[in-house]
Amino acid sequence: MSRVLVIGAGGVGSVVIQKMAQHPDIFSDIMLASRTESKCIAIASKIKGVNISTASVDADNVKEVVKLINEFNPELVVNVALPYQDLPIMDACLETKVSYMDTANYEPIDEAKYEYSWQWAYKKRFEDAGITAILGCGFDPGVTSIFTAYAAKHHFDEIHYLDIVDCNGGDHGKAFATNFNPEINIREITQEGKYWEDGKWVTTQPHEIHKPLNYPNIGEKESYLIYHEELESLVKNYPTIKRARFWMTFGQEYLTHLRVIQNIGMANIEPINYEGKEIVPIQFLKAVLPDPGELGENYSGETSIGCRIRGIKDGKDKTYYIYNNCSHQQAYNETGMQGVSYTTGVPCMLGAMMFLQGKWKKPGVYNVEEFDPDPFLALLGKNGLSWIEETNIDIEF
Ligand code: NDP
Repeated sequence: MSRVLVIGAGGVGSVVIQKMAQHPDIFSDIMLASRTESKCIAIASKIKGVNISTASVDADNVKEVVKLINEFNPELVVNVALPYQDLPIMDACLETKVSYMDTANYEPIDEAKYEYSWQWAYKKRFEDAGITAILGCGFDPGVTSIFTAYAAKHHFDEIHYLDIVDCNGGDHGKAFATNFNPEINIREITQEGKYWEDGKWVTTQPHEIHKPLNYPNIGEKESYLIYHEELESLVKNYPTIKRARFWMTFGQEYLTHLRVIQNIGMANIEPINYEGKEIVPIQFLKAVLPDPGELGENYSGETSIGCRIRGIKDGKDKTYYIYNNCSHQQAYNETGMQGVSYTTGVPCMLGAMMFLQGKWKKPGVYNVEEFDPDPFLALLGKNGLSWIEETNIDIEF
């Protein structure tokens, strides 16, 4: 029986709450708070079997979050708002001595820059306060990092080459839409590519490196090397890694839209003056794009996300592929949300469960691969995301 405060009522927040409600013995009292309380109320109205309350909060405002935490008195704050809110919510957790979890690393709003330095800088203060911060517990980052930890624990003496492959083989029928918050998503995929090789980061032009890869049950898809935040913590936590890369599939139509959006300045994050009012082009773009939370109904196909690994076991070369395929339609039938919100929300709920059961609980700030992957993966399939392992196969790298 525990009390959890969830902040953020978007696509991911909706799945997190619905999945928590499937475990009333663990998540007995939930508060869902977000900037727009009506969205929390809409989600809460579908929930049965647990005590759920809602609130409005501006999570950029530390004082407001502190007040809410003090009123509700949770054991854990789950942040599924936007990456901009990571630090204010961590500050509020420190002030109230309550543990913290999120699914995406902090980003300053005025600079699309992805690194854990800001959040890792809280380590000592979280240790001193005796509270836990679990960073990046979605699918990627999240399950991909846990898959890597599982591979390191059970399959390899040394991991040498890690390729994280993220394929969305789905079709939502729209000319252009993003699968999670458009502002965060477009900032992420239009940045320069970056990968780890021989002890240093190598930078590429956006989408410069690409190759066709085969995904189970989906087939061949052009896959583009992009930078993704889990690479930073994985190469730190697994120093035997010689090369770590992240690949994501994009269709030609999607890339054409993206190029036009960039060329006409709609992906810019610097404010401009429009008829006497300051607006940020990418935030305006978000307002006119389809809401990712509404894509589910006509979404067909599957996502396929996993880790392809090469390394050494008992002195011999070994290849290993661990992945999950998630059907958008099944995700929608269960939660009303598409597969990307689902694949993020399920691990987020499970991470919270690991913390509340004391399995992932230690003072400090940790990325998910620093915890035992076994109890988490033992429950992942039972909660909707089954995973498959293949060894000594052609991993195409
Ligand atoms: P949405 O945009 O659908 O939802 C974000 C929610 O946060 C909205 O309810 C929004 O409120 C709320 N919010 C925004 N700013 C504030 C604020 N200042 N105070 C309080 N609430 C606020 O995003 P998603 O649900 O798609 O994504 C949620 C998070 O999950 C993001 O951080 C994203 O990066 C992460 N993510 C992680 C993935 C992973 O695999 N690790 C994959 C996909 C997403 P309002 O409704 O008023 O706008």
